[in-house]
This record gives sequence, structure tokens and C-alpha cells, in this order.
Amino acid sequence: MGGGHRLDGEAMTATIGFLGVGRMGGPMAGRLLDAGHRLVIHDVSEAAMAALQARGATPAASPVEVADAASIVFASLPTPAIVREAALGERGIGRGAALRLFVDLSTSGPAAAAAIAEGLGERGVSALDAPVSGGVAGAAKGTLAVMVSGPRTAYEEVEPLLAVLGRLFFLGEKPGLGQTVKLANNLLSATAIAITSEAMAMGVKAGVDPSVMLDVLNASSGRNTATADKFPRCVVPRRFDFGFAAGLQFKDVRLCLDEAEALGVPMVVGAAVRQILSITCNRFGPDSDCTEIAKVIESWANCQIGGESSHEQ
Ligand code: NAD
Repeated sequence: MGGGHRLDGEAMTATIGFLGVGRMGGPMAGRLLDAGHRLVIHDVSEAAMAALQARGATPAASPVEVADAASIVFASLPTPAIVREAALGERGIGRGAALRLFVDLSTSGPAAAAAIAEGLGERGVSALDAPVSGGVAGAAKGTLAVMVSGPRTAYEEVEPLLAVLGRLFFLGEKPGLGQTVKLANNLLSATAIAITSEAMAMGVKAGVDPSVMLDVLNASSGRNTATADKFPRCVVPRRFDFGFAAGLQFKDVRLCLDEAEALGVPMVVGAAVRQILSITCNRFGPDSDCTEIAKVIESWANCQIGGESSHEQ
């Protein structure tokens, strides 16, 4: 039953599969429901599935059960190992009777993308890697950047579905190119948090008000995603609730450095950021928020960026 129809007209209302409906997958799957698609979903957490079930999504007990019902399956899962198992494992989608096309929205790295494309290809299934950027807010609003690579025909087939999630960028047919660009992006994003923490700690210790300092930086050439968003919204008010786990960011920077090393690209700054994330995960746990990197730098500098005692320790 590998055949099936193309995604136009009637197929726009076909059943779509979705694996992993957590912080990112939940709102992305929600947008597909909003667009009128039927969804069959699978997540190891029943709590994660509950809200979508209440809106009409059908739960499934395993990835293979999803791929028995849906010809196109999306995934937003935590790690490369979990994505590989969900795709190629004993109970993976590769064994599903209806599956023709797999779209991995997770940040799972180029090596997993290549292995999955090869493994599913042997079963006549096309694979696209389509990692996303823009956070939980972007997932809910449909304003993600979606970085796609894989067979162009497969991309064109799912373009209307991916367009529901955000702005699309097609990187090429080689599996993993989308993942490579996503890892580069996340290296920059993590580095921005780490280096902004250092700069802000210095300003605060000297006696500058952190909100005023951020205003200056955001009107100046040091502006970045941490100064513009994460610090004013999550660090200075001491909320640490950006919504991206430090453990997942550590995974992304590790995958990035692995890829750079494989390509013979030195990442001296990146290696320091990896260490800072390793320390953050040890100190606050892998489920802590990525903005808690700032707390590590604060503890080294003996100061606090924001909150009650932001300057004059
Ligand atoms: P999350 O932990 O909130 O969601 C992952 C979901 O997968 C959870 O609901 C979990 O129960 C489920 N899951 C775990 N193992 C599973 C398995 N074996 N089978 C089925 N379900 C399983 O994580 P998230 O923040 O939504 O991230 C998902 C992916 O998106 C990751 O690859 C992450 O790096 C990437 N990402 C996250 C963000 C962000 O801001 N949170 C942004 C861009 C990309």
C-alpha cells in the first residue's frame, strides 16, 4: 500500500500523522488541525496528547500505528536517537502500511537525517529533514523558519502543509542540509545567551541598570536575540521561561560541533559555549530553561542580572 495520492485537492484533508506533540510539536500539530486536517498522533506522554485529542486528533500507541493510518508523518521529537528509533525501529513508521513520506521537524542533526533517508528509502518512503526555528511562540503563530532538504518532489508535495507552520527555505536535495543550517542557527542563538550573560554581568557589577543597558545594546551594534528578547523577557524579570530546555540546546551545540569536526571546521568559540551548556545542565538539570545559562555566569561573577538586587552586590 505504498502508493497513494498527491497532496492536492482531496488529499489536503487526508489523515496526517504526528509523532511528538510536546512544546513545539503540540502547537504545530494544532495548526494542522486548525487548517482542517485529520490527525493521528503519538507521544509517550499521554498528558502531551490530551489537548489535541480534545480537539479531535486520534491517539495511537506507537509510531507504526500512526504510519498504518497516515501516508505523511511528521515528527517533533527530542533527540536523534529517538527520531531514528521512531523512524527505523521495530515499532517505527518504516513498518507502517500507509507511509509514503516522513518529515522530521526535530533538530536531529545531519547524520540522523542521512541514515533515516537511506533506511526509509529502502522501503520506498521519501524523507525530508525540516527543522524549525522560532520557539514555542513561533510554533503557535505559524511564524517558524522551516529549513527543508530532501527530494524536491517530496518537498513540493508537502509544501502546503509546511506553509501552515511558517516560512519555508529549501536548502537542496542532499539529506541533512536543513539540519546543518539549523545547527548553525542554534550555535549562534546559544552563543548569544552565553556572551550576553558575560557582557550584562560586567555592566551590572559596574552599577548599570540591566534594563537600561539592554535598551542601549538594542539600539547599538551588540544587539542579538538574547539582548532583544530573552534577557528583557526571561532573565531580567527572573522568569527563565523561554520554553527551550538547556538539555536540548546542549544537544544541538554538541551535534553542531560534531558536524563541524567532521567537516574540518574549527569551532573555538563554539567549544566554549558547549562547556557552558554542560555546566548549566549539571547545575540546574537538562530540563532547566536555556536562559538559565545566565545564572551560571552570574554565579561565577557573583552578581545578579535583574530582579531585586540587580546591581551593587
Ligand atoms: P519537548 O520535550 O517539549 O517535546 C518532545 C515530545 O516528544 C514530548 O511530548 C515527549 O513526551 C515526546 N517523546 C519523547 N520521546 C518519545 C518517543 N520515544 N516517542 C514518542 N514521543 C516521545 O521538546 P520540544 O521543545 O518540543 O522539542 C522538540 C524538538 O524540536 C527537539 O528536537 C528540539 O531540539 C526542537 N526545537 C525546539 C524548540 C523550542 O524552542 N522548544 C525550537 C526549535 C526546535
